[in-house]
Amino acid sequence: MNKLYVGIDDTDSPEGMCTTYITFVIINKLKDCGFEIEGHPRLIRLNPFARFKTRGNGSVSFKLIIKSSDDVEKAKKIILNKVKQLSKMENENTNPGVVFFETGKIRLTNPDGGKIYSDKEINSLLEKFALRAIMEILTIDEAKKLANDLNLEIHQFKKGRGIIGAMAAIGCYLEDKTFELLAYRLPENYCTSRKINPESVLEMNKKTYPRTFDNLDEGYMAIVPHTPCPILYGIRGESPQDVLNAHKLVESLESLEGYLIFETNQHTDMHLKRIDKINKMEKYGCYILRGTVKDKPNVIEGGHVFFKLEDSSGEIECAAYEPTKGFRNLIKLLLPGDNVEIYGGIGSMGTLNIEKIRIYELKSLFIEENPLCECGKRMKSAGHDKGFKCPKCGNKIRNGQKIRTKIPRDIKKGFYEVPTSARRHLSKQLVRMDF
Ligand SMILES: [Zn+2]
Repeated sequence: MNKLYVGIDDTDSPEGMCTTYITFVIINKLKDCGFEIEGHPRLIRLNPFARFKTRGNGSVSFKLIIKSSDDVEKAKKIILNKVKQLSKMENENTNPGVVFFETGKIRLTNPDGGKIYSDKEINSLLEKFALRAIMEILTIDEAKKLANDLNLEIHQFKKGRGIIGAMAAIGCYLEDKTFELLAYRLPENYCTSRKINPESVLEMNKKTYPRTFDNLDEGYMAIVPHTPCPILYGIRGESPQDVLNAHKLVESLESLEGYLIFETNQHTDMHLKRIDKINKMEKYGCYILRGTVKDKPNVIEGGHVFFKLEDSSGEIECAAYEPTKGFRNLIKLLLPGDNVEIYGGIGSMGTLNIEKIRIYELKSLFIEENPLCECGKRMKSAGHDKGFKCPKCGNKIRNGQKIRTKIPRDIKKGFYEVPTSARRHLSKQLVRMDF
């Protein structure tokens, strides 16, 4: 059976809307018209440092089963109309893109003698493109060139930057994945405070964690967004059944328009590249890197904490910003010589933003003191190379040495992460690492 892959991105703005909601509306409409969707739609998060990102830098794709060529045209029309109608076109930074890739189609030979790609080759090239969109920053021109080479159908609204995410959402290969159930509000309730019984969220967390995660943050509901978007809440978890079970436990005090479960690359650490040298890192790249703390962490105005990490190739400034809250108290306890692994990305200032830290070795701290006399009094130096003398009883030690005592450190080796509220969508929680 032929399939139509649909990718959509960059439809929302800080004032509202959400690409996942447009997808929810489109999928409902398509189902009403008798279309069948294969599997779950996908919500793919791209590089968190993309300069023109939409709110969470998330793009969406889904697969439609095609029974006839009339179907294809009808579906495309529905999709494009809804994107046009619902996107926040009036916002300068909202530049939607829609991409279609139909499998099983005979592709005409390019008159310029260009290569004809098989469906498998297209999938594999889109997969590579998606990885780059998640780890690096891509341009619209790169996306357009690839779409053109592969004979993909692209639709750009305004600047059409959304085609980058739309293509990545189609191509992204998910080795590890999580699911998110998004519940949508009735349009008349947009921009009003969200009404959910917080007790039910505590209960839901108790019953479903760690199969679902990031439900709470220091005891408060973390499933509710703080933006004027159509989402009432989002529940993240390990499987479609887990998020659905949790959803049934949440008591909503306002009516829902509906919900949709997405398969996603959220909380997989897919954006991080393991690297062995500091000097190989690039701006906007996201990495896992081991090194040694070079200086004592310092706190600047606003409560941000910084320290330098070094290895044989160079050094880089690492940061735990104010929103990482209590995580900063841990970072402040690091000392020069500590050996750590940092999980994080390099922002526009060239600073490595810490998402997680693994402390491998803590530098031992010692104090050196004069020995104690038999009488219990601390002895004094009797002069250079002359040993020690007791100021109380006059007792002498000729060849005595200072006593080294280890001072306990206030932190332990181990793996630490920023709190839920400061976590990037792509960051894998420690609780997921134990699965
Ligand atoms: Zn003494």
